[in-house]
Amino acid sequence: MTTLGAAVADARSRFSTAGLPDAVIEARLLIGGLLGLSSTEVFTGGDRVLTDQELSLVEKAVERRLKREPVHRILGIREFHGMELLISKETLEPRPDTEILVDSMLAYLRQIVAGKGSARILDLGTGTGAIVLALLKESPQAQGIGSDISEDALQTALRNAARLGMSERFQAIRSDWFDAISGRFDIIVSNPPYIRSDVIPALDPEVRDFDPLTALDGGPDGLEAYRAIAASAGDFLEKDGVIGVEIGFDQKETVTAIFRVAGFTLVEALRDYGDNDRVLVF
Ligand code: GLN
Repeated sequence: MTTLGAAVADARSRFSTAGLPDAVIEARLLIGGLLGLSSTEVFTGGDRVLTDQELSLVEKAVERRLKREPVHRILGIREFHGMELLISKETLEPRPDTEILVDSMLAYLRQIVAGKGSARILDLGTGTGAIVLALLKESPQAQGIGSDISEDALQTALRNAARLGMSERFQAIRSDWFDAISGRFDIIVSNPPYIRSDVIPALDPEVRDFDPLTALDGGPDGLEAYRAIAASAGDFLEKDGVIGVEIGFDQKETVTAIFRVAGFTLVEALRDYGDNDRVLVF
């Protein structure tokens, strides 16, 4: 007979023996998530006896975590900007730092909606749909498109839109950057792959082995996606439109230069929670 408390203690000790950080938090989060329990229920429900089925579910998940699969990927769900998002094999796990991009774009979005009563948003390489869905959630008058080269990602974004009740305002388009996009947008956003190819082997196994490579690999200098986006963005942006991108910690100057050459002006640069340059707005 194994109780919830014993299962959490066992997972915690195996995680910390394996050198994983935040062993207690992760053990609670993983087991609570698997059993559909709130953090309070995990905390107070230590005496609850687990069924054989629950035990085997927990055991399999603990083994996956020991192989460095991130907790949220095991659970298939991740919180982002107050939304619960499904994640899948071909979607990057949304990061808290990306919420900074959302919040910075919200100010522009609200201004545009105040002026013309609506707004069109394009999220290039949308993945789970995190960025565009967060913007749509905050602005009921806006319409959004999420584009991605991965069909799996588009299906995930569509399911997320449906779960959040935003299907009517969200469209998923399979596209290599702007290739299959038409029309003009008030807001273009992207968290493109921006890691230099040669740095990828040195990433944490949680990222390197479980986030999709296409969402990380920015080519030999990490800047290929920005070149592709900057080269065409002018044809797809409304006259007073704004484009916001997430960047790597050392890419502020290079990405600004790429957009400047394409005719864009930097209007804002923001730092992330670790005080690194992370978001540029043009
Ligand atoms: N921020 C991601 C990381 O932690 C990288 C995401 C990206 O390339 N867009 O590795």
